[in-house]
Amino acid sequence: MSSSILWFRRDLRLGDHPALLAAAADGAVLPLFVLDPALWGPAGDVRRAYLLRTLRALDADLRQHGRGLVVRSGRPESVVPAVAAETGGRAVHVSADFGPYGAARDERVAVALGEVPLVRTGSPYAVAPGRVLTRDGRPYQVFTPFHRAWIDHGWRAPADSDPAAVAWAGAPSDDLPPEPDLRDVDLPEAGEAAALARWEAWRGTPYDDVRDRPDLDATSRLSPDLRWGTIHPRTVLAGIDADDPHTATFRKELAWREFYAHVLHHWPDSARAYFRPELRDLPYVTGAELDRRLDAWARGRTGYPIVDAGMRQLLAEGWMHNRVRMIVASFLVKDLHVEWQHGARHFMAHLVDGDLASNQHNWQWVAGCGTDAAPYFRIFNPTTQGRRFDPDGSYVRRWVPELADPTLGAYPEPIVDHAEQRAATLEAYQLLRRHGR
Ligand code: FAD
Repeated sequence: MSSSILWFRRDLRLGDHPALLAAAADGAVLPLFVLDPALWGPAGDVRRAYLLRTLRALDADLRQHGRGLVVRSGRPESVVPAVAAETGGRAVHVSADFGPYGAARDERVAVALGEVPLVRTGSPYAVAPGRVLTRDGRPYQVFTPFHRAWIDHGWRAPADSDPAAVAWAGAPSDDLPPEPDLRDVDLPEAGEAAALARWEAWRGTPYDDVRDRPDLDATSRLSPDLRWGTIHPRTVLAGIDADDPHTATFRKELAWREFYAHVLHHWPDSARAYFRPELRDLPYVTGAELDRRLDAWARGRTGYPIVDAGMRQLLAEGWMHNRVRMIVASFLVKDLHVEWQHGARHFMAHLVDGDLASNQHNWQWVAGCGTDAAPYFRIFNPTTQGRRFDPDGSYVRRWVPELADPTLGAYPEPIVDHAEQRAATLEAYQLLRRHGR
């Protein structure tokens, strides 16, 4: 039977999968994943392990329908055409990728495929980047009007893709690489069934009451699922009642994810470059001092408990609460005077939900150079933030146990004085403004 290829990337599920529906309409479907050295190489152990677990879960789901996932390693522009030639694939189906690397990779693959079409159906978003534009057809640069227009635009109902109704095809597969040794890292369960269970168990949580409290740990924890596509945002949105204030706030958070994907799509350079370049010339540390500060921050050894708790949670779970992400990012940029790109790189290496658009643009937002400028002079005070959002200190105690029990080791003195650094930052900022930059 002639077959089509479904090349999985950020859509590692079988339900609500428009590209699977499109592939199935073309005949038997060969499920393919390509381990691309360009993405695998820079990923840290935690990301690699989570991806491998997600792929194993997808493979197990596919096997229930008779065939396993076909894994091949190498550059997609070589591997995908080779698999198409080997299996007589008539078309290669994908969910569109809007990231700078993914979009360029897909162009190369489309060219390399020649006569075999690369068919893009659906995307990892409720509304694909590029669709929500201002009345005169320009991309939004600020969240609030984007959010309004995004709601007005609306999104489709979840796709009715039924893997049991698909004729699956097979081909020889490479083995997945062995999982890195994560020692003490505790990852959430990976895969589509786990994602759906997480969502079902969490919905109904009074989000507004708990979302800023790392000690309560009561946000949805869907970010890795959305990142790897084990759940589609439309599945989540379909289960949301927008008249309920809690779910309306939650929907707004999903809209931030869509907004940042939209911004990165329109301004691909903003993955590395300052979205607003005015702050590029602030005095940032370099050389050995940069290494020393970055190292203390990354290991959770700054002497500021809420910062250290967050950085240790990142190392231990590959995840950090949003409020704490903001605090640690502000601390790195505005107290330690380290440029945001260094912190963003560390996050990307460790987060299981590491997503170029959300990560880089949240970093830019905290640094004060992003889209919805958090004014540069808004500097998080790590002590008062800790008191306010972790009122009885249980989050800090969990991750920095030596504070309560000094027999567990010495806790470092503060690496810098927050009040002094705050003043220095504000002064540098004023200077920059006076010189009209
Ligand atoms: P919930 O509060 O349950 O929110 C539901 C979903 O909404 C999230 O899963 C996420 O997809 C989306 N969302 C929530 N807040 C944001 C936000 N500020 N920006 C974009 N989307 C949001 N999120 C990532 O998914 N990947 C990243 O690499 C990432 N890096 C970040 C870096 C920094 C410096 C900061 C401040 C935030 C970053 N975030 C990132 C956003 C946010 O911290 C996480 O999405 C959130 O903590 C995930 O937990 P949750 O799923 O329980 O979130």
